[in-house]
Amino acid sequence: MNNPFQNAMHQLERATKVQKFSSEFMSRLAQPEREIRIAIPIVMDDGLLKVFEGYRVQYNSARGPYKGGIRYHQDTEINEVKALAFWMALKCAVANIPMGGGKGGVTVDPRELSKNEIEKLSRGWVRLMAQNIGPKVDVPAPDMNTTPEIMSWMSDEYSKITGDKTNATFTGKPIENGGSEGRGPATGLGGFYVFDILRQKMNLPESCNIVIQGFGNVGGNAANIFYKNGHKIIALSDVEGGILKEDGIDITALNEYRKVNGKIIDFPGSRKISNDELLTLECDVLIPAALESQITEKNAKDIKAKLVMELANGPTTPEADDILFGRNIPVIPDILANAGGVTVSTFEWEQNLKGEHWGEDEVFSKLKVIMETEALGIYEKAKILNTDMRRSAFIIALERIEKATKI
Ligand code: GLU
Repeated sequence: MNNPFQNAMHQLERATKVQKFSSEFMSRLAQPEREIRIAIPIVMDDGLLKVFEGYRVQYNSARGPYKGGIRYHQDTEINEVKALAFWMALKCAVANIPMGGGKGGVTVDPRELSKNEIEKLSRGWVRLMAQNIGPKVDVPAPDMNTTPEIMSWMSDEYSKITGDKTNATFTGKPIENGGSEGRGPATGLGGFYVFDILRQKMNLPESCNIVIQGFGNVGGNAANIFYKNGHKIIALSDVEGGILKEDGIDITALNEYRKVNGKIIDFPGSRKISNDELLTLECDVLIPAALESQITEKNAKDIKAKLVMELANGPTTPEADDILFGRNIPVIPDILANAGGVTVSTFEWEQNLKGEHWGEDEVFSKLKVIMETEALGIYEKAKILNTDMRRSAFIIALERIEKATKI
């Protein structure tokens, strides 16, 4: 079984071999500042009581309040949450936003709960966590299987308990509950800005063949955005498996199909493929946008993409990183590629604290500047250090966190 936290620490070691940092600083980064575990009791719809295990890992606060999503997944456990919290600390530093890193979760398969039970679970998470979060302390957000509606329940519960009216403790809320314009597509769009500014440098064509693993908020929005910008999505997958259409999937029609049928499998004109097949398809860009540890030492030698762009967190293991680097396949790392989500979350937090509401154009133009600037910085640094972009992104992030730690 892959331990995501071990992988994260292995990545840290890999990067700090290229550029050394002090042992004091490294020992601070070897573990989270705080780890909270809770047991959330819920009276289920059938009247029986069930207890769910929940977490919040507050990894590093040198640059600002802990920031990061809350994940609802049956496989979520403390090592995954620790890894995700660590990556958030680096991600916020890469995006140069005034936030530290944290992550939360609940071990639950939300497909097995009714809406009423999910609301109780979400409010329960906040009741047990309220003393440890807040606009200046820790600002959670959506992650896998947590929606704007869940954020509005959580935000409501938090203000009931604490009397706080800033609405700035949770981000990713619906617009009518203090959410920011553009938060929904922000991760996919941020990834597109990064890709678009680096595309020419990597000698990729104007219209690329793209494969996306995952069709949730991140993968789905990425598919729409790349498609609208003239790229061809040849394969896509969700938890049920993948579809392939060599001449390109009509994403507008696929969205309609999913709305009606509740799935993407059997989309007319497409061929069914497995998730394993999907990852090793011939294409220009492979975008993992689902879970961790998808590209491993087992399949990295079979990857045929010219570029891997990580919209998921932690989809490539360190062993696979070495193999891909050796094969000259660049990887745009998660802490850069998917930083658009937390960046717009931070815009939301800022708007809530100032009592403002920014227009979509303002949000997107601010996001574009950040993503392009940091993408170019990481790309150039990788060239100078003769390393991959994950190591250069780590080094840039670590320099920023170390500076804040010293101050
Ligand atoms: N869950 C997202 C991530 O992994 C966003 C976090 C946030 O908006 O705070 O980056």
